[in-house]
Amino acid sequence: MIDRIVQTAAEPTDPVEVELEVTLRPHDFKSYIGQERLKQNLQLAIHAAKKRDEPMDHVLLYGPPGLGKTTMASVIAHEMGAQIRITSGPAIERAGDLASLLTNLQDGDILFIDEIHRLNRTVEEVLYSAMEDFKLDIMLGKGPSARSLRLDLPKFTIIGATTRAGALAGPLRDRFGHIHRLEFYKPDEVQQIIERAAGILDVKIDKGAAAELATRARLTPRIANRLLKRVRDYADVNGDGIIDTVISSQALQLLEIDELGLDPADRMLLAAIIDSYNGGPVGVETLAALTAEERTTIEDFIEPYLMQIGLLERTPRGRRVTPKTYKHLGKTMPANQNLL
Ligand code: ADP
Repeated sequence: MIDRIVQTAAEPTDPVEVELEVTLRPHDFKSYIGQERLKQNLQLAIHAAKKRDEPMDHVLLYGPPGLGKTTMASVIAHEMGAQIRITSGPAIERAGDLASLLTNLQDGDILFIDEIHRLNRTVEEVLYSAMEDFKLDIMLGKGPSARSLRLDLPKFTIIGATTRAGALAGPLRDRFGHIHRLEFYKPDEVQQIIERAAGILDVKIDKGAAAELATRARLTPRIANRLLKRVRDYADVNGDGIIDTVISSQALQLLEIDELGLDPADRMLLAAIIDSYNGGPVGVETLAALTAEERTTIEDFIEPYLMQIGLLERTPRGRRVTPKTYKHLGKTMPANQNLL
């Protein structure tokens, strides 16, 4: 897979970028921009839990990557005055791994499990009873002499994050008291996120340039921060470090990110649906083959934004482009095309 700045599929692995994420991560509700409904719901739940002097009910956050699920988990921990431990579904390989994580928690701690849909079945089953009644059932030994042991666990809160709530087993989903979807941000919220990040990183950017970056950041904070960093590099090399609209336009042109935030790979995907499949519908497997991406990458990472901005539609027979896609790519829609 090629390295794409607008690709949110992978969590950053580059140490500089990881550090950037940590530096820019808001710590409380006040600095967490947008997602107003989510914040209101969670604030209420936190308030109630604190009043009862109990840990908060388990929380499931879902939605496309880079929208702030991990960030929200740490905001919740901060607001609860709780300790947070961070792990992920694939990292908990065996029931024993989960047992050791849970038995090391203290009352009131939060365990954040990213990509919770990737937990394996055995681990998932142990997690059910742990979440439900704070007990851990462990099997000792094998065969006829095996016996089970029940351990009391501290009263913890699980915050699970997933890009696909549908992939979560029903019984696991039912154990969460709060299930919330994170929405794409509005352009003016993305602009505020960029201005906040610029302030922290001491980058000088004018309002016009921040607004321009905001429209091209796929309505996603992670991409907004990444674009800001790349445009800052460009401004340092080709200007005096100040980002105005001239510098930002030049930098975005160089990065080949268009005014809707699409990169060449997105445009190629949409053009292929038009050129080879007459605009669709086309199955997701075919899209995967066309782009050499995994099916899940298309479903979880590429499609949601293209659908959000109305360039792609999901129909029972597959995906198809819209009149807006033809217009955006400067292609003429065939007269026999009945897309609306
Ligand atoms: P996810 O867990 O959904 O993939 P993250 O929580 O890791 O996303 O967010 C990615 C980055 O985007 C964070 O480092 C943070 O700097 C920024 N970010 C996310 N949500 C917000 C927000 N609401 N306000 C400001 N910055 C945000």
